[in-house]
Amino acid sequence: MHNKYGIPPASGMEGFTQTVEGQTKLLVPELSLTERVPPKVPAFFNPAAKLNRDLSVLAYRAYAPRLDEKTFADGFGGVGARALRVAAEVPEIDQVYCNDVNPTAIEAAKQSAELNSVSGRCNFSINEVCKFLMQGDREGERFGIIDLDPFGTPAKHIDCVLRAVLDDGLISITATDTAVLHGVYPEVCRRRYYGMPLNNSYGNEVAIRLLASLIALTASRLELAIKPIFSHATMTYLRVYATVAVNSGQANDVYSNIGYVMHCFNCGHRMSAGEYDGSAKCALCQHRMRIGGQLWTGLLHDRDFVAKMSEGATDPKCKKVLDAAVDEIEIPYYFKGDEISSMLKTNPHSITAVIEKLRAAGYRTSKASLNPGAFKTDARIDQVLAALR
Ligand SMILES: [Zn+2]
Repeated sequence: MHNKYGIPPASGMEGFTQTVEGQTKLLVPELSLTERVPPKVPAFFNPAAKLNRDLSVLAYRAYAPRLDEKTFADGFGGVGARALRVAAEVPEIDQVYCNDVNPTAIEAAKQSAELNSVSGRCNFSINEVCKFLMQGDREGERFGIIDLDPFGTPAKHIDCVLRAVLDDGLISITATDTAVLHGVYPEVCRRRYYGMPLNNSYGNEVAIRLLASLIALTASRLELAIKPIFSHATMTYLRVYATVAVNSGQANDVYSNIGYVMHCFNCGHRMSAGEYDGSAKCALCQHRMRIGGQLWTGLLHDRDFVAKMSEGATDPKCKKVLDAAVDEIEIPYYFKGDEISSMLKTNPHSITAVIEKLRAAGYRTSKASLNPGAFKTDARIDQVLAALR
């Protein structure tokens, strides 16, 4: 049977079919294209993660010129969707290393490499992720770029990634334990990420900052310093791209970017703090505030890098994510438009109109990259309400 691209299935791969993502042909399990939740057997492929992979192609293309060793490693490679897209669509990368514990997935990835005529630049292995990373490339060297996209939390594997990446290399790390990071299981969050989540209207911003903080603190323990250069999130995952430098001086400064976000569930006041002194009374209503963190309070995006990614973007969905990231001000929380309109008891305001009004009132204000229905501002909640009333 031929699929919609008129391509017959590969020999020996029962239950697999070909699809095309970006400019790359991929051999994937047939059911992964039709089931609402893609099955893990015979191998896992999530077509809904296309945007995630589109953005990673843009990020690696933008970063590759900085690398001395132009190698890319994917520890949870699956059927090779990300690794093969890098091989086929990021010609600046010399060698791609794709690893998975599932031999069927790796066989599919090998056949996909042949379909795209990139087998000469692809290396495949079947190994536990940390063992794979510790072996390094063909010369036993560390990798230039490492991607980590596990089922669930990446917390167990962050040390291995940081130990396997070159000085001035790039790491991209995904977390899919979003319920934990958004505050449904706060104690699990604290043990995995060393900080408390906030189950509130900007929970995904707190979540991504908990992930960034875990990466930064783990790095500092290894005499490394990270710098997030791009971050994004959907309902199902959170993702941080960060550069890694061997620099104990910068590692010493890690706590200048670690702090707390405090939230009043009574009046909606929110603030960030470098230190938490134990007195968490809301300045506006005197109720006790809830503490999110410790978490990363520094920048989540490098404006120049994201602008460079955006130059290469043709897909409007990618453009939208990147443009919001470029313009975002460095406040570690946001305000949702419908949250504000319900407090004002009015119809929802457009975010563009809200931003204009707050800027006219003298506040620094921007879109929120992690939520298209939200804005960031240095105005307090009472000042926001007053400016919009
Ligand atoms: Zn309050």
